[in-house]
Amino acid sequence: MTVRPLPAGAVNRPALRGTGTLLLVAMMAVAVPSTSRLGASGSAAWRVARRGGGDAWSLLLAVLRPRELSPFASGGRGSAWAGVGEGALLPPPANGSPHEAALARAAEQGWVKCGGAAACTAALHQARQSLPDELALEAVALGDPGGDRVKAAVAAAESAGLERPRELSVHAPFLPHADRARAEEVERVLGLATLWSLQWPLPNGTRITSPFGERVHPVTGEKKFHDGVDLAAVTGTPLAAPAGARVLHVGQDAVSGTYVVLDHGHQVQSVACHLSEAEVKRGAAVAPGATYARTGASGRVTGPHLHYGVRVGGKFVDPAAAAVRRQAAPR
Ligand SMILES: [Zn+2]
Repeated sequence: MTVRPLPAGAVNRPALRGTGTLLLVAMMAVAVPSTSRLGASGSAAWRVARRGGGDAWSLLLAVLRPRELSPFASGGRGSAWAGVGEGALLPPPANGSPHEAALARAAEQGWVKCGGAAACTAALHQARQSLPDELALEAVALGDPGGDRVKAAVAAAESAGLERPRELSVHAPFLPHADRARAEEVERVLGLATLWSLQWPLPNGTRITSPFGERVHPVTGEKKFHDGVDLAAVTGTPLAAPAGARVLHVGQDAVSGTYVVLDHGHQVQSVACHLSEAEVKRGAAVAPGATYARTGASGRVTGPHLHYGVRVGGKFVDPAAAAVRRQAAPR
């Protein structure tokens, strides 16, 4: 059990986005060699973007560094969550899918206008008839329950040869301007759905030995904020990825021990500390439920356990309240 400062590598990267033109120019300089690999598909992307309403600048950004520039390739700056009140992150009622719950919360918060809870749910059901969950949610959040604009953007990104065209940050440059202007709201809706889709990384029923929130530190006796939950686990217990992810960081320090930060997309990240072993490397893709690390007692601890934290837009939330507490898929 520890109360820790944030692991260094867990510092929110999106903060980098706000540093402006200089950084963009530097990033482009770094990324330019990789654009040569795009070849014909790169120029196709330009043509499609010009035809489809995307502008050259946002497309250039998408082509160069699609992941780094989420939420949207055009001008997404800082966290989509800046200035959003605590109430937005309160756990949803247990009924309904995470996507329905996210849409209901977004309507309540005024981020989307789909005409009240029942109408929003109906719009989502309509969109789901022709789109997978995440795209359906995006379509409804954009006021496009038929999904025509979203489908056109995905198709354009695909025909431009971009990888992962279904990801918002990849196809966003092909959306009309008015949709791109709603980037932050849409990102927040998708973020909530991602947050509320997270699986528990250890088997259901694993004991929480220390909850999230204010507490007296067991070692120092100081009153501090515990930014995650501690879960009882013997050394070597496999950790299941709470959702599909990319490995943002694998690190080690005196307090957190060995830790892994997973990026689940839409500014949702999870961190696991005091590990005996990380079984992934930075940048790797991790499938939902896949074993990515093993618990241990590294760092400042009184015994083996998992410290598990979840962040949204850089802010830690209670993983126990936010997670859908089911056991992750069999591995
Ligand atoms: Zn802890």
